[in-house]
Amino acid sequence: MDLDTIDCVTSSDVMDDDEIHHHNHHHHHNQLSPLSKPPSNNGNGNSTVSSAVHPSTTSVHELLECPVCTNSMYPPIHQCHNGHTLCSTCKTRVHNRCPTCRQELGDIRCLALEKVAESLELPCKYTSHGCPEIFPYYSKLKHEAQCNFRPYNCPYAGSECSVVGDIPFLVAHLRDDHKVDMHSGCTFNHRYVKSNPREVENATWMLTVFHCFGQYFCLHFEAFQLGMAPVYMAFLRFMGDEMEARNYSYSLEVGGNGRKLIWEGTPRTIRDSHRKVRDSHDGLIIQRNMALFFSGGDRKELKLRVTGRIWKEQQNPDGGACIPNLCS
Ligand SMILES: [Zn+2]
Ligand SMILES: [Zn+2]
Ligand SMILES: [Zn+2]
Ligand SMILES: [Zn+2]
Repeated sequence: MDLDTIDCVTSSDVMDDDEIHHHNHHHHHNQLSPLSKPPSNNGNGNSTVSSAVHPSTTSVHELLECPVCTNSMYPPIHQCHNGHTLCSTCKTRVHNRCPTCRQELGDIRCLALEKVAESLELPCKYTSHGCPEIFPYYSKLKHEAQCNFRPYNCPYAGSECSVVGDIPFLVAHLRDDHKVDMHSGCTFNHRYVKSNPREVENATWMLTVFHCFGQYFCLHFEAFQLGMAPVYMAFLRFMGDEMEARNYSYSLEVGGNGRKLIWEGTPRTIRDSHRKVRDSHDGLIIQRNMALFFSGGDRKELKLRVTGRIWKEQQNPDGGACIPNLCS
């Protein structure tokens, strides 16, 4: 069943959501501290609730912390009849009982707290990763989903993996936990051998990590069903953001028996999920018949030799063409 393959990759997408959620947990404690400032007195508090305030005192911080999940609360913020607040995510989980006083929860919004939340200007939650940005509450959420400093998801596609981190961390993780092959240098020459190529669905994917130009690249090779047709696909992802990925190009070649397929492209960022890249067909696609033809022999075994090269594009001032023998 080709469903196996599809399932396998789908799960990595589901995983993305989990990871984002996961991260809220880990980093929310950093969120408010950099703007700390003594609380305004009630006496002349005419400006305290206006949009100009930065009331990032411990108490406001605590007020906006969901008592259940400890994430920061964003509107809609809910409260029970006794005034205990909780975030909208937790509200859906607590079966209409206030987690604090066990009373029936009902459907009461806490508009005052929502207004306070909206008036805050807060640093991006990846401030400890280097992001200098400060935003009003709502824009902060939007920004964080796209922040360049947010951690990356593990690019390994073959199993559910919820690990997130920066690139050096993920490289070590791929090597140590996924036992991924690591290569230095910007050219490669790989053989993919599979004894019964009829079984496209049998988790035929592979990942190799390349280290060149001081960067890391993931070479994916896999089999999947394209419509009714089994195909093999190879593509490169860049371990970094898209802007940087554009500084590089790569080529892949596969052939045999006097025929050759060549693909040239720009590596995709690992921000794009493995599945997204695959579904956009942004890589070298080899029909199975052709793959078996390239393999030679009696078509019982898949033996593909894929060669490739990564180079830096010229427009980058400190870039340079790769000279294969010198850049490993
Ligand atoms: Zn919550
Ligand atoms: Zn309550
Ligand atoms: Zn940011
Ligand atoms: Zn992983």
